[in-house]
Amino acid sequence: MGFKSFCFKKSLWVFHFGGASCNNCDIEILDCLTPRYDLERFGILLVGSIRHADVLLVNGSINMRDRDRLIEIYNQAPKPILVVAIGACGCTGGIFAEGNTFAGPVDKIIPVDAYIPGCPPKPEAIIAGLVKLVNSSNPFKRDK
Ligand code: SF4
Repeated sequence: MGFKSFCFKKSLWVFHFGGASCNNCDIEILDCLTPRYDLERFGILLVGSIRHADVLLVNGSINMRDRDRLIEIYNQAPKPILVVAIGACGCTGGIFAEGNTFAGPVDKIIPVDAYIPGCPPKPEAIIAGLVKLVNSSNPFKRDK
């Protein structure tokens, strides 16, 4: 296992991109970072720049305005990057999928490695999904 793979496997730094919709998923993601759920105990740290991130968390439906920004952020990310779609809106568009500004679910815009469904998913589900990603034997199924 290379040094970079070792870092990814043991300590994931995450960047959060919130699309449109009700943003309750934003609140649940932030809840994971509070002392009550303490996501950092798994070595998972929220960072303010995609250039420092190993994982891109995307929630909310992606509308036409968000789409270009999401692509730009993805392109700025150091590769390989893991992308996690969170919530029904992130996974499929949810109740906003029929909207006239909907630009498609996240995986129609950038490659997605993991999905955490729910409306919204509870912090426990988000943490379980991320820890599963950390413990995944081969999280790098794509070459970048
Ligand atoms: S999945 Fe549900 S809770 Fe999350 S942003 Fe969409 S509508 Fe809101």
